[in-house]
Amino acid sequence: MTAFPFDNSYARDLEGLWLKSLPSCVSDPQLIRFNNELADELGLALAEFDDQALANIFAGNELPATAQPLAMAYAGHQFGHFSPQLGDGRAILLGEVIDRNGMRRDIQLKGPGRTPFSRSGDGRAALGPVLREYIVSEFMHAAGIPATRALAAVLTGDEVYRETVKPGGVFTRVASSHIRVGTFQFFAARGDVDAVKRLANFTIARHYREAAHAERPYLALFEAALERQAQLIAKWTAIGFVHGVMNTDNMAVSGETIDFGPCAFIDHYDPDALFSSIDQNGRYAFSNQPLIAQWNLARLAETLVPLIDADQDAAVKLVTDVLETFPARFEAHRLAEMRKKLGLKSAKDGDRALIQQLLDMMQADTIDYTVAFRALADCLEPGGQDSAFSALFADKEKTDSWLQAWRRRIAVDGTDGASAKAIILAANPAYIPRNHRIEEAIRAAEDQGDLAPFHRLVDVLAKPFEDQPVNAAYQTPPLPEERVTKTFCGT
Ligand code: AMP
Ligand code: MG
Repeated sequence: MTAFPFDNSYARDLEGLWLKSLPSCVSDPQLIRFNNELADELGLALAEFDDQALANIFAGNELPATAQPLAMAYAGHQFGHFSPQLGDGRAILLGEVIDRNGMRRDIQLKGPGRTPFSRSGDGRAALGPVLREYIVSEFMHAAGIPATRALAAVLTGDEVYRETVKPGGVFTRVASSHIRVGTFQFFAARGDVDAVKRLANFTIARHYREAAHAERPYLALFEAALERQAQLIAKWTAIGFVHGVMNTDNMAVSGETIDFGPCAFIDHYDPDALFSSIDQNGRYAFSNQPLIAQWNLARLAETLVPLIDADQDAAVKLVTDVLETFPARFEAHRLAEMRKKLGLKSAKDGDRALIQQLLDMMQADTIDYTVAFRALADCLEPGGQDSAFSALFADKEKTDSWLQAWRRRIAVDGTDGASAKAIILAANPAYIPRNHRIEEAIRAAEDQGDLAPFHRLVDVLAKPFEDQPVNAAYQTPPLPEERVTKTFCGT
């Protein structure tokens, strides 16, 4: 049996949507971390590969015989401005496998050297962003949020030149596909309706099979993709994730979170939270994410119009009607997520207000979002102490009255304390990749060659909902001087 049972449908079925591209060799590949569990899920048979053999493959120095390396073409609206040609400038798809659940998954190297789409870039990745993507994408998965996965991180032994000289790395990303809104835009912008149609058919077959049987398959594709985005953004909002660079080339049509560049997690609750150093106008601020998702989906809709109906006005009307369902869908999913955070089982009219009151209280007192929600569980201890939670807030009276309203609401569900507590503990992570911890791991690795903080952080975050007394320090919000207020792409 071959170690990499690739079956490369993108290469086979979508000629003209990609260009062949080989990884360039690096000097001294060293394995940083390999995700054995994921490799197993993917059906890779790597038992005979030692760390060096894995490093050679996942640095791009050795190619599996079945690999068919390619760079995908895509365009994208970056901060609202259209770039007709982006493409995989520092990523190469090695191939696709069918995983143990029968799902097709892409295995892609990030940082393996220049491709035909590299423009002026070096096609390389610095170690820091490689570690960040490993940490955050694996956490997202552990937290139950659809995301691309981390299979491997490798040090190249070469330097890359950014603002300063950095150690180079290669990251291996696994995705249910790398089809982006920008992939559709690339061909639509060229007026290549046939390519858009082939891509849409491929996307339906890979991600939205039910759409094939709809009266209007491409409209159904759009609606299904929109629904998944509404779910996704609601889920990531609920844990305080700020994507940071929701350009249309960074939105996967599959509904997985993709691209962990200048992403961050809110500490205290703040709808305007913005971390990305390259986002001067707050386009991708925390509370703007659903609006941007809808804006990006409008760009996807535009590419599908010619496929939906020969009568352009009719097609536009159809997609617009679907597009306009986004805010309501998002809000419904957001409320569903927030109800879980409060330990609620059913949906009742006053829930939105109850949730909003709590968020307002958190915002007023700049209270750590993750700590506060997790502390709610303690209020349901048999003794019924509200102390840990209440102690966070300045206005005791207001807090008590909110807690009373919340307890009454739980009672309406007929849930006992232990069950409500279980819902809360399963919905509110104790551990998130706090920005200062990510920064600490990157600094240790880049500046001292010390990868221990990175490994420890990945290990802690693998079980975000479990209390881990020995790792309690990772729950603690940053001290004022530790707070990270800006994140950088650093790619
Ligand atoms: P991103 O910031 O990851 O969304 O990337 C935007 C575009 O820039 C994509 O087309 C990338 O492939 C390209 N890009 C980013 N960094 C590099 C690099 N170091 N070399 C070549 N292309 C790059
Ligand atoms: Mg990107």
